[in-house]
Amino acid sequence: MKFNFIILAAGKSKRYNSNLSKVYHKIGNKSLIEMSLDKAKKFREIKKIVIVYNKKDKTKIKNLNLKNVDIIVGGKTRQESTMNALRYLKKKSKFSGVLIHDAARPNFSIKLLRNILHKMKGSRAVIPKIGFQDALKEIQESSLHEYIISKNRDNLFLTQTPQCFILKEVFRYHELNKDKYKDDDMSLYMDLNKIKFIEGEKNNFKVTDKKDFENLKKLYISKVSYGIGFDVHRLVSKRKLYLGGLKIKSKVGTLGHSDGDPVLHSIIDSLLGACSLGDIGQLFSDKSKKFKNIRSTILLKEVLNMLRTKNFYINNIDINIITEYPKIKKLRYKIIKNISMLCDVPIFKISLKGKTTEKLGIIGKEKAIACETISSLTQYD
Ligand code: ZN
Repeated sequence: MKFNFIILAAGKSKRYNSNLSKVYHKIGNKSLIEMSLDKAKKFREIKKIVIVYNKKDKTKIKNLNLKNVDIIVGGKTRQESTMNALRYLKKKSKFSGVLIHDAARPNFSIKLLRNILHKMKGSRAVIPKIGFQDALKEIQESSLHEYIISKNRDNLFLTQTPQCFILKEVFRYHELNKDKYKDDDMSLYMDLNKIKFIEGEKNNFKVTDKKDFENLKKLYISKVSYGIGFDVHRLVSKRKLYLGGLKIKSKVGTLGHSDGDPVLHSIIDSLLGACSLGDIGQLFSDKSKKFKNIRSTILLKEVLNMLRTKNFYINNIDINIITEYPKIKKLRYKIIKNISMLCDVPIFKISLKGKTTEKLGIIGKEKAIACETISSLTQYD
């Protein structure tokens, strides 16, 4: 089965108390919308992603990095927004499954999503649910007074998103049972035959107010790691000079087994360090013919793929190039732009400084160039 993924981001965030809709608020590098998006993009079975946005947020949504994602305008209510997306998919998509998800619930795990897709085999719908832990009470009224009854919490539960459906069926229910809609799409299903409930997650809470956002932040901070990288190459004649993946016009170049790009080498080591995945020498040995004169951009690409499979995302990269020659000032922006493109990290999250050693040592004598990098990464579970 192949799936569509709808991210509902058209809510007005009434309880959030901010001019900026809560789903555009960022932790590290990512807005709440992008957190869900990143996870959905990891699945090959998810073929089409649609974000439903509020038309007042038009410029904000366009500012996000939304490659291969469709965006459509939402309605006044959650139900209207979902219906807009379903109608759109009915026309534009040939994939039979659909996940419907609230952007305000960005902290579902990759494991939960995998489980939902897996359980959809032979089902009409898969819904994550979570039980109550506190005692449940209900106020009832008689003609004389109000009184409280205790509820049996074993029969009651909360539903979460993403919820998974068959596109045709959920669309039909939206058309037929519109008035029965209550809070989520699951509420349209009266007949529970072949509907699977699976265990949801405590951390998959809905961000409603600032306190929720603070809690989410704490969870993400605990998933951040840092790595440090360092590299140095001798500068010699008759070699090319590559810095940050760019060929630099220069009278001298770096001596090395590969293309000798100290910037990419130190970035690679910092990324590997943050994930405890060893170092560049272990992965790409300078004894191996395979890596002779290889472009470091190829090595970086391989490392980025490793990071992706382990669910690491780069927050920011801070780089010092230590050299007397060439002067970094003029090259700075070009190198930042190239690293941003190579690593798929926004330009403003990459910092590059040019440093000298005040003419001291081998670097001061223009005979070597060094680079050091610190990276910060977040791992989703
Ligand atoms: Zn190197």
